[in-house]
Amino acid sequence: MAHTLDVLSDLAARRRGAVNRLPSVDGVVSALKPGDPLVCLRPRLIEATARSFTSIFPGRVFYAVKCNPDTAVLRALSAGGVSHFDVASLTEIETVHRLLPDARMAYMHPVKPRASIREAYAKYGVRDFSLDSVDELAKIITETGHAADLGLFVRLKLPKGNAVYDLSGKFGAAPEQAVTLLRAARDAGKRVGLCFHVGSQCLDPSAYERALDLAGEVIRAAGVQPDVLDVGGGFPVSYPDATPPALWEFMSAIARGFRRLNLPKCELWCEPGRALVAAGASLVVQVQLRRGNELFINDGVYGSLSDAGVPAFQFPVRLVRPGGEQASQEMQDYIFFGPTCDSADRMAGPFPLPADMREGDWIEIGQMGAYTNALATPFNGFYPNTFVELEDEPPSVGGAD
Ligand SMILES: *Cc1c(COP(=O)(O)O)cnc(C)c1O
Repeated sequence: MAHTLDVLSDLAARRRGAVNRLPSVDGVVSALKPGDPLVCLRPRLIEATARSFTSIFPGRVFYAVKCNPDTAVLRALSAGGVSHFDVASLTEIETVHRLLPDARMAYMHPVKPRASIREAYAKYGVRDFSLDSVDELAKIITETGHAADLGLFVRLKLPKGNAVYDLSGKFGAAPEQAVTLLRAARDAGKRVGLCFHVGSQCLDPSAYERALDLAGEVIRAAGVQPDVLDVGGGFPVSYPDATPPALWEFMSAIARGFRRLNLPKCELWCEPGRALVAAGASLVVQVQLRRGNELFINDGVYGSLSDAGVPAFQFPVRLVRPGGEQASQEMQDYIFFGPTCDSADRMAGPFPLPADMREGDWIEIGQMGAYTNALATPFNGFYPNTFVELEDEPPSVGGAD
């Protein structure tokens, strides 16, 4: 009982921003019997992942804050050597600045509110901005008062690739337009960059090489030497239905493509999100009802499990049944329903779990650090906002690559 109270006071401490360390997911579930979804963060794993990523990427690493803006996550990344952040809104800028006042930020959203450009530049010292149109270029120039110290990044549109999340539909200038923009940026900016995004959870290292080849064509046609080439995010992690090539294969493809461009004075940047944080959290949910092979759980697509909905990511799952009671050795495939009244709150999985799953069981869902709590809404009165931090240990489900 005393232990339960300790854990609860630790939880309260966590909300005050103090760091607590709990031993294991099973221990937390035994002690807390959580009736609300519980995000279990592993800051030391995030720190180690950040350290290894930054040591093998041949350039500067900007963390894409949208992927998980939790302060414990940002702090862990910073401890792991990430000091640059890719931000897309004033709120993200404020969050990073409050926690890490010395961090360098790049505002890489190609369509920004004028007031946000102004404040980012004047109040938060942001100098690097992306754009994919002449109108946006004009906005940046006007709102920074024709500043002489801008870094202007032309976002290049890529042909649709085979990343799990295609990002080619919304942003990016077609090559001919990128040529025009690169020349205009050269006239207006102190630094000129070219950036792109191959799509999230990209499973093909050569996608970066092809994108760099396309960047090379634009650079030659424009006759403009960029100061920075930014290969964006998209670096993949493992899920039960996807084992991507090792991270070093992506790094060699990028290094190869970059070398071919023969730009000795150009810096190389990247903007990973998922690859830095996916393994750094798991989610504990509770079964509210079983109906055949359907489990009604207390988190769903309007909460931390957006990617388990329409994108149908298969996350690793594990039964947590405290008290030492044996579960059935026989496994079966389940689908999940989330807690809201929307029938779209459905996760097809399949999620393999013991055949005797029942109301009250807890399930630990792994690889829950990326695009999870960041996407949660309070729809229908359900909002997963309880976090604990776990000691450094191998994750009990899923894992780092
Ligand atoms: C979302 C995003 C990223 C991060 O993508 P991941 O696939 O999570 O690595 C990086 N850059 C930009 C511009 C983005 O929109």
